[in-house]
Amino acid sequence: MADVQKYETDVAIIGAGGAGICAGIEALDAGARVTAFELGAEPGGAAIMSGGGCMVVGSPLQTEQGIEDNPDLAFKDWMQWGGASADAVWARYYIEHSLHDLYHWAEEQGVKWVMVRQQEGNSVGRWHRADLGGAGLMSRLIYAFRAKGGEIVCNADIAKINQSNRRITGAEGADTDTGAKIEVSARTVLVAAGGFASNVDMVLKYRPELADDKILEGSGPGSTGNGAALVETLGGYLTHMDQIWFYVYATPDHLDPKERHGLAFRMAPGYIWVNAQGKRFHNEALSGGNSASPALLAQSPRHAWAIMDAPILAGLEIADPYYKDGVDVDVAKHAALYADSPYVHSAGTMAELAGLIGVEGAAFTDTVDRYNDAFDQGLEAEPEFGKPLAMSKKFDTPPYYAMQIFPLARKNFGGIKTDIRCRVLDKHFEPIDGLYAAGEAAGMAGGHINGGAGLEGTMLGPSLFSGRVAGGWAAAEAGHGDGFEGKANRG
Ligand SMILES: Cc1cc2nc3c(=O)[nH]c(=O)nc-3n(C[C@H](O)[C@H](O)[C@H](O)COP(=O)(O)OP(=O)(O)OC[C@H]3O[C@@H](n4cnc5c(N)ncnc54)[C@H](O)[C@@H]3O)c2cc1C
Repeated sequence: MADVQKYETDVAIIGAGGAGICAGIEALDAGARVTAFELGAEPGGAAIMSGGGCMVVGSPLQTEQGIEDNPDLAFKDWMQWGGASADAVWARYYIEHSLHDLYHWAEEQGVKWVMVRQQEGNSVGRWHRADLGGAGLMSRLIYAFRAKGGEIVCNADIAKINQSNRRITGAEGADTDTGAKIEVSARTVLVAAGGFASNVDMVLKYRPELADDKILEGSGPGSTGNGAALVETLGGYLTHMDQIWFYVYATPDHLDPKERHGLAFRMAPGYIWVNAQGKRFHNEALSGGNSASPALLAQSPRHAWAIMDAPILAGLEIADPYYKDGVDVDVAKHAALYADSPYVHSAGTMAELAGLIGVEGAAFTDTVDRYNDAFDQGLEAEPEFGKPLAMSKKFDTPPYYAMQIFPLARKNFGGIKTDIRCRVLDKHFEPIDGLYAAGEAAGMAGGHINGGAGLEGTMLGPSLFSGRVAGGWAAAEAGHGDGFEGKANRG
């Protein structure tokens, strides 16, 4: 019989990613004992793979760059972009606390913020990137968590949360390495198990209208929706589950036997996208989840081809660890992808390329000719969709390439419904004693903080912040500290 690993703690955290680690730091600071259980072989989750960008309002970096921002402007942008389904209370709470309780707090843990950028939907630049992106951010937070005495148990697949007399008592699961049973006794349990964008079956469950199309999985390996499933079994309420954030700049990973894993790419401002009818349908310079994704999802069928010539392809980067050699691009692996993937075609002429990808030749070459014509006329933007041409070039250097792109599920904007203390709510909106949820499992914070669209930096940022809130209150319920107490931006 396999061994049993027993743990006894104040706050048991399921998932040692962005939200889980921040929750742990907060609970440790309150004096609680904390054990985090992590499915993967290493902590970090999707957060460690992320761009490390957080939306922050009123930062010193903004001031340095002469950016004038304030919580009211940010809130207006947020609600306009996210629409009626954005949670105004959580959005306001996050925005008002992003400066002290995220930006400066992260600095106290060793994180360095290095740049600020304006993303689609924002009136000003407020997307702040941590040094070395998600890897830099999370390695510092994990270090801080461990330095404060936090324990991380890796290869731990938590499969059940235990409850007795309507109170949470702990959790159980198994060690994925040894098969040993894991039994956890805890005063409070905090679900920070991430999202479900790497589980295409779950994506299609909530978006059945996409079932006939190829949808790619685009989050971390642990983003399979475990957290939502664990909480649903206990009567926890899931909300806004159909609000899923897609990107379009991704092609299937032909090395994945199921070809579900998506490879996102970047650094190709020169490409155009053509649909199955051989026509462009969007200004490719607007590549965000609230601009390019609806445009691709409106095509029939819902895929397109990224068209490039040789120099444009040479600048392309596949944003996936397999295609990197340290921090550099692995050129040989990129070349192997272009040669071997059934989703990439090349030809000496555009007419020949049209034949290979099965689009109507005259429509396709006409599309390319009209685009090229804009360069011949010296235009600043091409007239059809208004794509600015400064970063682009004419298609004139064969071979020409077509890479097939499909919607990539990257993040989910719905999840476990919680109150402002991150207590999990049941369908009557009553808290379940001892149970907390934060991060993407809780739609980034509270259940649906973003609504239908995110301003960017509004996934990782609220995941880290809601982790802190959940950790503070979970520790308090376990008998340590007075709960999360933040400092408002303008306080
Ligand atoms: C490539 C990429 C880039 C991104 N860039 C940005 C960005 O720049 N800005 C932004 O705002 N957002 C970004 N995001 C989104 C952001 O990273 C996530 O929303 C955020 O990390 C969510 O944090 P989390 O703690 O909820 O989940 P995670 O960080 O994914 O952590 C959840 C952890 O729970 C573990 N887990 C799951 N199930 C179990 C179980 N049953 N038992 C034990 N452990 C379990 C998982 O293995 C995982 O480690 C990006 C996402 C990706 C994939």
